[in-house]
Amino acid sequence: MDITNPANGEIINSLAQDTAESLAGKYNALVAAQKEWAVISLSERVETLRRFKGLLSIEIEGLAEILTTETGKPLQQARNEVNGAIKRITWLTDNAEEYLRDETMVVGATTAEQISYEPLGVIANISAWNYPYLVGVNVFVPALLAGNAVLYKPSEFATNTGLQIERLLKSAGVPDDVFKTAIGAGDVGKAVLALPLDGYFFTGSYQTGKYIYEQVAPKMVPCQLELGGKDPLYITEDLTDIKAVAEGTADGAFYNNGQSCCSVERIYVHERVYDDYLAAFVSQVKAWKLGDPKEEGVYFGALTRRAQVSLLEAQVADALDKGATLLTGGKAPEGKGNYFEPTVLVNVTHEMDVMRAESFGPIIGIMKVTGDDEAVKLMNDTEYGLTAGVYSQSKERAVKILKEVNAGSAYWNCCDRVSAALPWSGRQHSGIGATLSHQGLRAFTKPKGWHLMG
Ligand code: NAD
Repeated sequence: MDITNPANGEIINSLAQDTAESLAGKYNALVAAQKEWAVISLSERVETLRRFKGLLSIEIEGLAEILTTETGKPLQQARNEVNGAIKRITWLTDNAEEYLRDETMVVGATTAEQISYEPLGVIANISAWNYPYLVGVNVFVPALLAGNAVLYKPSEFATNTGLQIERLLKSAGVPDDVFKTAIGAGDVGKAVLALPLDGYFFTGSYQTGKYIYEQVAPKMVPCQLELGGKDPLYITEDLTDIKAVAEGTADGAFYNNGQSCCSVERIYVHERVYDDYLAAFVSQVKAWKLGDPKEEGVYFGALTRRAQVSLLEAQVADALDKGATLLTGGKAPEGKGNYFEPTVLVNVTHEMDVMRAESFGPIIGIMKVTGDDEAVKLMNDTEYGLTAGVYSQSKERAVKILKEVNAGSAYWNCCDRVSAALPWSGRQHSGIGATLSHQGLRAFTKPKGWHLMG
């Protein structure tokens, strides 16, 4: 499998892909090793994952360079990602013992009722490329903490990073056969589905997630899906610093080239502040530099996947065809690499793909609304349900609106944000189940209820 640099189209390296036979060998090794990993103390597993975190910190520059080379993410954003992963591991390791230890629920004279959290066994972590450290950590860290073995399939667009993760986990003390990497693209993912694993944890697109859910259903094992979104923002008229809000929300839409599951994908602005918001938003977008992701100061690097360029071109054409106005961008610049100019469209409607289908790129549709009722209606007019945000001076108003929006994460005066302490979960086509928080720690366990008499 060739790994290509999206910034210039050059092949970085080539890797041997896994086959059904090699995967079966890895699976057998994982099954045997998991039993030993599960019986060592939780505090020892916590210490091992803390050492992994320490190694990420020591090697951050080299890891960021590898990540940028294979994904096109600006170097500073690559460093930010590794730092974000370190922060998440800190929360997970600091809280594992609290949420994974046995719990006594009832104590009587001759009875005790307890819960223990047993590992699932060997789980699959089929992962995405857009934040390989962050979305990986959400799964393999709590899975390992809970005593599982992990068959980790990094995306074919972030495999070099996946191999670094494997190397550092092993340097930290995770036994060789407790964590194994499956190398390859969709076909290798399919071969992972054919194995009799004890749980499937997937991060990626709705289309692949739906396929995986269907394949895993007959196995009757846990299947969690963290999928795409079409995340809305509503900007109310009561804000005092509309320029700051416009700049902050532009970052929410365009950070990582818009390739975040929780990127802002559509914006509704109250008609009273619409013109001011738009002017500040476009001026911020134009101020950011597009270019070689290894050059310091670049905000827009290359898109990771070539195919996304055509998808974005098609969304722009569809919008313009149906009456939208292009304020900036709209095309791929001349030259090598998967670049796309940051694009702002207005006069958009929900008839247009740019307001309905996940864009996963540097493109945004901004729509004028008359008030809260219209905003809520439009925010809910989607098949997805990952995050939603409201900017307002009034917490009460924002909370009232957000209670009516069907999304797994609600943001007041913020966006494009994940916290390890809160459940990360999608609704509708954005997924099933939750990672992070105490729910995400327990997602990799099966509870056993103990009825103890005597
Ligand atoms: P993708 O669905 O194309 O691929 C994801 C993974 O699935 C890859 O490892 C791929 O090789 C594998 N795969 C592909 N076909 C498969 C098959 N038939 N069987 C088994 N495995 C298969 O997604 P992507 O392009 O890597 O990621 C982008 C998508 O991920 C976006 O939709 C984004 O919103 C979503 N995402 C969601 C979250 C979240 O937390 N909700 C986080 C990051 C990304």
